Amino acid sequence: MTDYQKLFEQDRAHFMHPSTHAHDHASGALKGRIIKGASGIRIQDHEGRELIDAFAGLYCVNIGYGRTEVAEAIYKQAKELAYYHTYVGHSTEAIIELSARIIDWAPQGMKKVYYGMSGSDANETQIKLVRYYNNVLGRPAKKKIISRQRGYHGSGIMTGSLTGLASFHQHFDLPHADIKHAACPHFYKAPAGMDEAAFVQHCAEDLERLILAEGPETVAAFIGEPVMGTGGIIVPPKGYWQAIQAVLAKYDILLIADEVVCAFGRLGTPMGSQMFGMQPDLITTAKGLTSAYAPLSAVIVGEKVWNVIEEASSRDGAMGHGWTYSGHPICAAAALANLDILEKENIAANAADVGAYLNQQLRQTFEGHPLVGEVRGVGMLAALEFMADREARTPFDAALKVGPRVSAACLERGMIARAMPHGDILGFAPPLVLNKAEADQVVGIAKAAVDAVA
Ligand code: PLP
Repeated sequence: MTDYQKLFEQDRAHFMHPSTHAHDHASGALKGRIIKGASGIRIQDHEGRELIDAFAGLYCVNIGYGRTEVAEAIYKQAKELAYYHTYVGHSTEAIIELSARIIDWAPQGMKKVYYGMSGSDANETQIKLVRYYNNVLGRPAKKKIISRQRGYHGSGIMTGSLTGLASFHQHFDLPHADIKHAACPHFYKAPAGMDEAAFVQHCAEDLERLILAEGPETVAAFIGEPVMGTGGIIVPPKGYWQAIQAVLAKYDILLIADEVVCAFGRLGTPMGSQMFGMQPDLITTAKGLTSAYAPLSAVIVGEKVWNVIEEASSRDGAMGHGWTYSGHPICAAAALANLDILEKENIAANAADVGAYLNQQLRQTFEGHPLVGEVRGVGMLAALEFMADREARTPFDAALKVGPRVSAACLERGMIARAMPHGDILGFAPPLVLNKAEADQVVGIAKAAVDAVA
């Protein structure tokens, strides 16, 4: 028995994987992969295979793999000071510097940064901040949060409720009663005959109807990803965010931009908010903040909410919210080294340039392909949505889905492209350091894979 066989046996016996078919894994029907190393846009597995990672892990390794500057920054910080907490005013140099740097990346009007370890815990913090804000303002009924169908915001009890995907609710008694879902802004799925402007109006009216049905005095916040990720890489139509923000302003409802995927250059702008002219009150970031070299999330709090929190403390004392690892210095050091690389190498500009090229090549290759209904994307995000009948826009039956088969065919050809877990969609979210020759390779492999299953 090779070492790897033994390792896989132990993996099957004791490791509970996230989002994994438990029985198929335990029985060995699901063939796992042990990742041994990585560099640039490529990862190496236990068989010595090198794969292009066209999904940057889980759209998080923005600067690419193997940057020793980040590893060295982590090592230096761990040697100097591996940990101290940040409760009651304690700080480290790294976290102080990082907070100022994050505010520089954010859109105007942002004031403070609170840290966690994951996008899910950051969104839990957001829900608590929204509740706190309205309770302090003497509006205890204003608690509900509206997210969107197909939105993804995490998998905790409340964040799983925000997530608008059935599999995150099923068997968990979710969604929580305080969470409601508005329409998904996917123009491709708009009612027949509706143009883009009318669809934007339709989405805004849907939101307003929901607010009025719940009672505006009960609705505290709206949360949305600038571009939807896990729900299928869905770029909102032109004018969507302006129309949504107008409705929120009318009813004094806060906007939370969930930038876990979009922030730190993925769309070609510093954050997604700048691309769409969003003026959020609160922003959630994680993934690209450290390019996943260490786990770190950041909740960015705008002045409007912060002023209420600060004032309330004179009366109520410290807010009862904190994690042991909030502002962990090793993660902060990783984030600083990551931001240095993003800034010095102008990586967001590369994401804009090569991302536009990747999207253009995908459109050129797949638009009109008999299996492909829509080719979409922006910046370094792209997707192919498969249809059994592209004219009628009828999807394949669940058992005949094309996405998983194309994803497997990509893997055989040396590339990871993600069969998105909801719908029949193949997603691309490569590291932002991808160059045009590599973009050509990504499209070439995708073409060969789609043709192989056609
Ligand atoms: N929000 C968005 C937009 C995400 O894409 C994700 C994860 O993919 C999360 C929140 C949750 O982040 P995490 O998996 O780090 O908890």
